[in-house]
Amino acid sequence: MALRKILTFEDRALHKVCRPVTKFDEKLHTLLDDMAETLIDANGAGLAAPQVGILRRVFIMDNGDGIVELINPEILETKGEQDGMEGCLSLPGDFWMVKRPSWVKAKAQDRNGAWFEIECEDLMARCICHETDHLNGHVYTEIAYRKLSDEEIEEMMSAKQEEA
Ligand code: ZN
Repeated sequence: MALRKILTFEDRALHKVCRPVTKFDEKLHTLLDDMAETLIDANGAGLAAPQVGILRRVFIMDNGDGIVELINPEILETKGEQDGMEGCLSLPGDFWMVKRPSWVKAKAQDRNGAWFEIECEDLMARCICHETDHLNGHVYTEIAYRKLSDEEIEEMMSAKQEEA
């Protein structure tokens, strides 16, 4: 496994629509393994392939118990609304307020091509929407409505440390 470089907002790869995965081969598995290592190293919640310069419909999420891999994901159904802050490994240090559904049902393929369904709520529902947007060339600040101030970010960071 190897760490991949996480591209930032300015990179064109983040603003392009990604193509479906058609080959569930060793190359895909290496990409997924590298993305997992990169996500854990960056201490993030999710990472999409275009963020490491690969324009394919692949993302991973850390759901707290481990890494979930979603290939060719499609959101099938959403419910409710949540309003909260969001960040992105491609826009380090920024946090914006974004409204998202509070519940999401999606289907995706695993690393061997088998289809499965996944239902998520709260943070993971937010994550699935954020990462799916990446695969369509969208960055979350396009739909965010307010940037958090430095004071708010500081407050949030110290609250996080108290939780840990
Ligand atoms: Zn992101």
